[in-house]
Amino acid sequence: MRVSFLGLGAIGLPMARHLAAPFALTVWNRTAAKAAAFAATHVGTRHAATPADAARGADVVITCLPSSHEVEALLDGPDGVLAGLAAGALLIDCTSGDPATSRRIAARLAERDVAFLDAPVSGGVVGAERGALSVMVGGDAATLERARPVLQAFGERIVHCGAVGAGDAVKAINNALLAMHIWATGEGLAMLTKAGVDPAVALDVVNASSGRSNASMNLFPERVLTRAFPRTFRLALLDKDVGIAAEVAREQRTPAPLLQLTAELFRLAHHELGEVADHVEAVQLIERWAGTTIA
Ligand code: NDP
Repeated sequence: MRVSFLGLGAIGLPMARHLAAPFALTVWNRTAAKAAAFAATHVGTRHAATPADAARGADVVITCLPSSHEVEALLDGPDGVLAGLAAGALLIDCTSGDPATSRRIAARLAERDVAFLDAPVSGGVVGAERGALSVMVGGDAATLERARPVLQAFGERIVHCGAVGAGDAVKAINNALLAMHIWATGEGLAMLTKAGVDPAVALDVVNASSGRSNASMNLFPERVLTRAFPRTFRLALLDKDVGIAAEVAREQRTPAPLLQLTAELFRLAHHELGEVADHVEAVQLIERWAGTTIA
């Protein structure tokens, strides 16, 4: 099977590595040097000059870009994906996208007899390196079965969430919960630190009690207390994800005040901390407001 992977970013790169051995792999990246370096270090892999070139002859094209908007923009023009994709091919979008744009992309591809799945992932860069991601899939079940051998290269848990857009919606809510846990844990620990409690002691208690979460069990001990703040998942992308979740709530006319507030907080944090900040660095804004350091 010929597979092409477009978007060798923080998560795309380790995902693509798992496809190099089992498939005839072509890679494309906006910054071409990254694709050339990938092809140079993965025997048998080809790097394409344009998205059209990558799509030409491919059975499956995978995209992993910041948002659905970049994916949609990559479709058109003489160098675009559609210029290369043949009827009968399949586009799997592993971007954490938005349901409305994914549905629009799927409709455009269907006109050309090209199938589409939204298939965002979770598990982070470490999960991608281990080939142990969770994949949330939207699309029809038969298309998922066609895609499964490819998804299994980097995915350990592949879940069919519903029609096109359902994978994006589940992913957005998951990440909105992540954002809420980071923010709420940050507020709690900032006030406890100011009250004279060692945050490591507070985390030990929370992590043995009902307030624990991935944020309290992993992110705070490993990234905040240590002041390491490694840059693995950009705050800008989490802002985008919470924004998608808030938009889905509005589309569904579902009252979601906590979600809307979280979207506002992460928009603010993204604005304050910039494009390269990691998502956990949002805690530094809480610390700034509180005039304390959680350490
Ligand atoms: P990065 O910002 O690290 O990489 C983005 C990738 O998209 C790069 O290859 C970049 O190319 C490319 N790109 C950016 N803008 C454009 C454009 N206009 N046209 C074409 N290509 C473009 O993002 P991640 O790899 O971290 O994230 C990718 C997706 O995966 C996002 O939707 C994110 O939310 C999701 N995700 C990320 C996780 C993580 O832990 N990092 C975890 C789970 C999901 P270039 O190299 O030229 O900049």
